[in-house]
Amino acid sequence: MGPGEAAADIAAHAAVSMRLIEQDFKTPRRTGNTGRHAPATTPRAPVDLGTVDYMARQVQEIVDYTKASAPNAPRPPAEAPDVYRWMGESTAHFQGEQQQTRDAIVYRQVLEHALQMGDESVIRRHPCPDCGCWGLFWRPASQRAACINRHCAGPGQPSHTFTLAQIAHRHIASRETTARRAT
Ligand SMILES: [Zn+2]
Repeated sequence: MGPGEAAADIAAHAAVSMRLIEQDFKTPRRTGNTGRHAPATTPRAPVDLGTVDYMARQVQEIVDYTKASAPNAPRPPAEAPDVYRWMGESTAHFQGEQQQTRDAIVYRQVLEHALQMGDESVIRRHPCPDCGCWGLFWRPASQRAACINRHCAGPGQPSHTFTLAQIAHRHIASRETTARRAT
């Protein structure tokens, strides 16, 4: 798999996750099975403003980055999950470091989408950037991943912690290395 294909995979993953988040907050909460359909006049479930804000922020970051780094990009799409494909098409000429930066932004959003959906296990699927062990876990309070390996930080020292941006950058860099080795 070349780096280009890898980027398309990540973008597709991000779009699918965002579509799931979108569907989840658009779907009215079930209040138990009454055996019949709710009348059409039932008010819609209140919109989850946290989710709306979250999606708006994520889309804005992709749009801002794309417009700044590819000024000739066409207008962004109306549907939020489509921004990743639009970004990929608008920045298809990117190479090297620029490509890695772009992919790391999208991959960080993949991680953020998973956490937004309550899936913290996504963090454990990445090795610790410092010691390489599989002992990372998510600390919601600090919004950082911490390594549980005692040998990583050293005796008496606080755990090493990492931002999602650091984990994403490391992940993209290691993918590129693997792709180069394979060719
Ligand atoms: Zn570690």
